[in-house]
Amino acid sequence: MSNIRHHLTDDLLMAYSAGTLPEAFSLVIATHVSMCDECRIMLDSFDAVGGAVLEDCDMAVLSDDSFAATMALIAEQDGVVDSPRLTPKGAVLPEPLRDYVQGGLDSVKWRHVGGGVRQAVLQRSKSGSVRLLRIPAGAKMPDHGHRGMEMTLVLKGAFSDECDRFARGDVEIADEDLHHTPIAEEGEECICLAATDAPLRFNAFIPRIAQPFLRI
Ligand code: ZN
Ligand code: ZN
Repeated sequence: MSNIRHHLTDDLLMAYSAGTLPEAFSLVIATHVSMCDECRIMLDSFDAVGGAVLEDCDMAVLSDDSFAATMALIAEQDGVVDSPRLTPKGAVLPEPLRDYVQGGLDSVKWRHVGGGVRQAVLQRSKSGSVRLLRIPAGAKMPDHGHRGMEMTLVLKGAFSDECDRFARGDVEIADEDLHHTPIAEEGEECICLAATDAPLRFNAFIPRIAQPFLRI
């Protein structure tokens, strides 16, 4: 089993299963699920319930024992849920990301954004954006708050902030209430996949000026 300590919430897995999340968050969730048995099992069960409810809507909505009926329907189905492909051993980028960038770390077009940090924006739309971040060992990210949701998945190394320590496979979900300063751990660079649905709120003057360049 894995050492993952920070997981996705049931709400997020349910929304992902229903297909209602922006693409930026879906990519982070698909990548975490490919690394995490625990969340994959939860997602499979949400997928199965969603499928069963769609297949027999009347029964699910009208019957008093619709839950039992739904579970019976699930039990009848086997092998309906495709498991994500497994990531090759030792690869930093798990399979859903490898598909997205069409290769491994070498295929990523990194851009320097200051402080030794490099980033590659993978997707940007009105509903959100998602990027890879490459932070040198021991480097500090600008401290910031959030206007919406920020989801950060560690792919290599580890970082710590006011909340906890996050290592490979861990996902940190930040919202308006969290104000933090992530710091990459000493000894190894930290590579993360980060999705946001609104621009971050930087506190220091310099990062605020740099924001148009970072385009976060
Ligand atoms: Zn998980
Ligand atoms: Zn943040």
